[in-house]
Amino acid sequence: MQVCDVERMIAFRRELHRYPELSCEEEQTARRVATMLYEVGVDEVHESIGGHGIVALIHGQQPGPAVGLRADMDALPLQEATGLAHGSTHANVMHACGHDGHTAMLMGAALDLVKARPARGRVILIFQPAEELGTGAPAMIEDGLLERFPMDAVFGLHNWPGVEAGAFIIHEVPHMASSDDFVVCFHSEGGHGAMPHLTTDPIVAAGLFVTAAQQIVSRNVDPEDIAVVSLGSLQSGHASNIIPASARLKGTARCFKPDVRQRLERRIHEIAEGIARASGCEVTLNYVPSTPAVVNDTACARLCREVVEAHWGSDWLVSHPISMGADDMGFLLEAVPGAYGWIGNGNGNAAPALHQPDYDFNDDILEKGSDFLAGVARRFLDNNH
Ligand SMILES: [Zn+2]
Ligand SMILES: [Zn+2]
Repeated sequence: MQVCDVERMIAFRRELHRYPELSCEEEQTARRVATMLYEVGVDEVHESIGGHGIVALIHGQQPGPAVGLRADMDALPLQEATGLAHGSTHANVMHACGHDGHTAMLMGAALDLVKARPARGRVILIFQPAEELGTGAPAMIEDGLLERFPMDAVFGLHNWPGVEAGAFIIHEVPHMASSDDFVVCFHSEGGHGAMPHLTTDPIVAAGLFVTAAQQIVSRNVDPEDIAVVSLGSLQSGHASNIIPASARLKGTARCFKPDVRQRLERRIHEIAEGIARASGCEVTLNYVPSTPAVVNDTACARLCREVVEAHWGSDWLVSHPISMGADDMGFLLEAVPGAYGWIGNGNGNAAPALHQPDYDFNDDILEKGSDFLAGVARRFLDNNH
């Protein structure tokens, strides 16, 4: 990109950062993105897909294959504490996952692809809402994203704090976990704390569930597989001498393989029902499948690595452990082959992590991210005619 284009994209990124919007509420962000797409000169802009999603098209010089590039646009319910001049102006809403940067990187790629159009095929730019809820990608798919804009591959890029600024991580193994949420509630008639024999006790049932849930990964999952079951909430009662009428637990179950995913769900059901039977309580279980694991297509991952090597050299490809974090890019990669790369956001061990109040996207990597996305699109279209 030319210096003036980079400065323009950094200003755009900071503007998005100043006015963050929560998942499913990205109305102004989407409007700003659409306006910028028209200014950049893309060929078509389609709005309100799966909520506030936007799809834009850039046609190559001749017909050919289609490649999708995806960025997310939503922010988090968090009070920003960076003290930066471009800090959030919205109380308790903040771009703490760098989706402002992802949107700006994709816009920079659009600028690049419009200025030097691919020889053939077309590029489908996907600006996705509601990633943080895991609902934006499936909503766009349900709204006809892949039928209206058929694509042969899809690519995306997430920033990664703590990794050298501008270094790329391209996994060839599943690298972000599937994520499912559950709520278990044990019910009783309640009663007097002095007369436990006259009722059933949901607190004891909840305690048994907490302990038993720790054994799912250690006893029911192949030691070669990776999984985690965590409980994040346990709520019940209010007085020392009242046995409450209910105890409610909330948790998350994460892993990388569909069969492990099914097993975690089955065991959570079995344990909740078994404990209910043993304790005499009733139980309700609401198990909510959220996002599938993020799995790169091997050939598409290789293509990403080739782009990094060709543009910046293999020193800029680094390795990094996989993450138990989730991303709804998994839905797109389930439907279309592709790859989701990570780009280092810099700052070493002192770097604020994603979702922390002092985090900010690093503008120094914006141009490189744009060049990567445009380069991946070009190489895919050149290789697949
Ligand atoms: Zn996030
Ligand atoms: Zn994110």
